[in-house]
Amino acid sequence: MNLTWRHCSTCGEERGFEQPPCEDGHGPDCPEWVCVECGSAILMGFDLDDVEVPADAPSRAA
Ligand SMILES: [Zn+2]
Ligand SMILES: [Zn+2]
Repeated sequence: MNLTWRHCSTCGEERGFEQPPCEDGHGPDCPEWVCVECGSAILMGFDLDDVEVPADAPSRAA
């Protein structure tokens, strides 16, 4: 399983992050990573300083 080191805002220091099984169909491009220490989920794969949800993003049917 992929493991990458990032700063975890919950732990307050560098932690290993792994990708949980994606159920949203992102496949290997899934931006969701979970801290192996505290389980906090973060999004990676794009600029974290400029996270925006596109207004025209397809909404998931409830
Ligand atoms: Zn953590
Ligand atoms: Zn995903």
